[in-house]
Amino acid sequence: MRIVLVGPPGAGKGTQAAFLAKNLSIPHISTGDLFRANISRQTELGKLAKSYMDEGNLVPDEVTIAMAKDRMEQPDAVNGFLLDGFPRNVSQAEALDQALKADGVELDGVLDLEVPEDEVVKRIAGRRICRNDSSHVFHVTYSPPKKEGVCDVCDGELYQRDDDTEETVRKRLEVYHTQTEPIIDYYAAQGLVVTISALGKVDEVTKRAMDALKGQAEGREQRDEDKNDSRGDGGE
Ligand code: ADP
Repeated sequence: MRIVLVGPPGAGKGTQAAFLAKNLSIPHISTGDLFRANISRQTELGKLAKSYMDEGNLVPDEVTIAMAKDRMEQPDAVNGFLLDGFPRNVSQAEALDQALKADGVELDGVLDLEVPEDEVVKRIAGRRICRNDSSHVFHVTYSPPKKEGVCDVCDGELYQRDDDTEETVRKRLEVYHTQTEPIIDYYAAQGLVVTISALGKVDEVTKRAMDALKGQAEGREQRDEDKNDSRGDGGE
């Protein structure tokens, strides 16, 4: 399966992506995580990306698209992937379409996570992430770790992302509305979008997401069958 996850910062994309990727046995590809890995390794790409990320802006398409494509070409992604944070604007979506077309494959669905804006700001301001694994996410009030600053899962150090300040979150939301939301219409025109609410417990949202993706896949199969039937030549 090839899935794109869309939603504002703080919708819980990373958390959901980790569970969904596991359930669907496909790799979770997060451009945000790839950039953060480059930042901690202090690569040239990391240095460049950091200056944009800290302001809440998008990293330029040229480097982002090259990095995402490179990751999608790894052997574990041959049969599918869950993209989290990519594409983030229409030109990235077009570049992804071209890359998939060149490989003779297609997206199976675009999962759109909806969450009210005041909830986003609350979630992000208290968010703490494990240095070892970004899918180990905590919140100082909503889901505090047993021991302050320490990951319950792996004892890793919890930290607050540099771009998780209230000011940067507001900028990231603005960028989301102006640049990322248009890709929902872009994919809706291809009949790919399913929208679910990202409110509620993590496992409830995961269940909602799995059901929505299943319903979407069945709907597509039905449409493909109808298309074949309406060709009316009876086939071979
Ligand atoms: P969130 O979805 O919570 O905002 P991410 O970890 O997905 O967090 O992204 C963090 C930052 O990384 C973004 O604000 C942006 O600067 C950069 N980034 C991630 N993905 C992309 C992308 N596809 N294009 C450009 N910049 C990106």
